[in-house]
Amino acid sequence: MAAQGDDKAVPGPDASAPGHRVAVAVVGAGPAGMAAALALCGRGIATALIGPPPGPDARTTALLGASADVLADAGVWPRLEGRAIPLEVMRIIDDTGRLVRAPEVAFSAAELGLAAFGWNVTNDDLNAAMAETVAAAVAAGRLVRLPVLATGFAIGDDGVTVGTAAGPVHAGLVVAADGARSPARAAAGIETVSWSYSQAAFVTTLSHRLPHGFASTEFHTPAGPFTLVPLAGNRSSLVWVERPERARALTELAPGVLSREIERQAHSLLGEMSVDGPCAAIPLGTHVARHFAARRVALVGEAGHRIPPIGAQGLNLSLRDVANLTDIVAAAARNGGDAGAPAVLEAYDRARRADVAGRAVGIDLLNRSLLSGFLPFQLGRSLGLYVASEVPPLRRLLMRGGLGPGVGPGGGARMGGGAGKSAGGAKAGRARRPLVAFGPCLW
Ligand SMILES: Cc1cc2nc3c(=O)[nH]c(=O)nc-3n(C[C@H](O)[C@H](O)[C@H](O)COP(=O)(O)OP(=O)(O)OC[C@H]3O[C@@H](n4cnc5c(N)ncnc54)[C@H](O)[C@@H]3O)c2cc1C
Repeated sequence: MAAQGDDKAVPGPDASAPGHRVAVAVVGAGPAGMAAALALCGRGIATALIGPPPGPDARTTALLGASADVLADAGVWPRLEGRAIPLEVMRIIDDTGRLVRAPEVAFSAAELGLAAFGWNVTNDDLNAAMAETVAAAVAAGRLVRLPVLATGFAIGDDGVTVGTAAGPVHAGLVVAADGARSPARAAAGIETVSWSYSQAAFVTTLSHRLPHGFASTEFHTPAGPFTLVPLAGNRSSLVWVERPERARALTELAPGVLSREIERQAHSLLGEMSVDGPCAAIPLGTHVARHFAARRVALVGEAGHRIPPIGAQGLNLSLRDVANLTDIVAAAARNGGDAGAPAVLEAYDRARRADVAGRAVGIDLLNRSLLSGFLPFQLGRSLGLYVASEVPPLRRLLMRGGLGPGVGPGGGARMGGGAGKSAGGAKAGRARRPLVAFGPCLW
């Protein structure tokens, strides 16, 4: 584990030069940055979004619990209509082949009175839906959009100037949504605690002969989880966590060989499989910022935390960052306050600590329990899954206990649950219901 301020600050731009003046400058136009800009401008806060549009992305994102509400409030959700597939069942299968093996466990959203735990959407569809909503906000004059890199930050007592090739942007607060290596985080002098795993995620999409029944299935293997998540029709996305060299080798296999290899690893659960999308191998690591805000810079998304893709937590955490930050900044704005005032930064830092640290530690423990051949670790994991499988009140307690902390001033009482299905896939229809967001130990 290493403590680091891992990136060098770039030279500061001229704070006295003319340019855009906004309350908040969001730097980074990935999913976290677009969500933050939309949420803030949706509350009437003068906002600029700075950063190039995201490129193609082979991954999908399972949006759990309150994430759908955050996207609905940001005006994105209707654009995902028909493209977000409900996750009704989450199944865990111990495929470690070890002496102590856990029983198969299946959690059903119906047990909690929910239509779905969440929705799976391709990152390309999600980014496109967000970009369309951003374009609509720009056209309506509610958002300033500069599709260029931030080249420097001058942080002063009264505000921050963000340098860009399209001229400077002066803001009270910078929202750093500029990814894992975050130059804005470095400019604010915020350090991270980081550690890496000898693992990479192989990702792709597949078609298969048998229906998935809107169930995601996670096989626990000694190298990490192998997870199939439903897409429209008889298709699924795959996140296969493996040793880095094996994940890289998978990307080099011919499509037919790769399809058979995946089907073998899935024990033909969904019948014959055929890879039908791009493949990528993504190295895994974890970092958590020591502070989530300082010196007029607040961190959202991977600028603040990066965790392995176990339990589909990453962007869900980021959307909770966005919801918390928006509420805090909007409250300050209502009182005529400065979006980057110390009280705002302190409130945001406090709001994010427990949620982010809890998820990062939970995911880390679960991951290590898979990788470790140490018997007590395996016993602990198996016992946990046995309890989850066999004792109904504990199952529900575990499911609800794993539900994330509240979003919004009232502690969160919002959750979309009514995804309806149509012939070719599913509708992203939603009904308000109590907030849920899965904890790391459940999927
Ligand atoms: C295999 C895999 C599967 C995953 N599955 C899930 C899932 O099912 N559910 C889930 O919730 N999460 C999931 N995640 C996590 C999720 O994908 C990430 O948390 C999310 O993509 C991070 O988004 P971001 O906007 O924070 O960062 P990024 O997507 O990295 O965006 C950062 C942006 O900042 C921009 N930028 C960088 N420097 C500058 C600069 N100087 N100026 C302006 N812009 C800049 C970059 O161009 C980029 O567009 C998964 C992750 C992996 C690896």
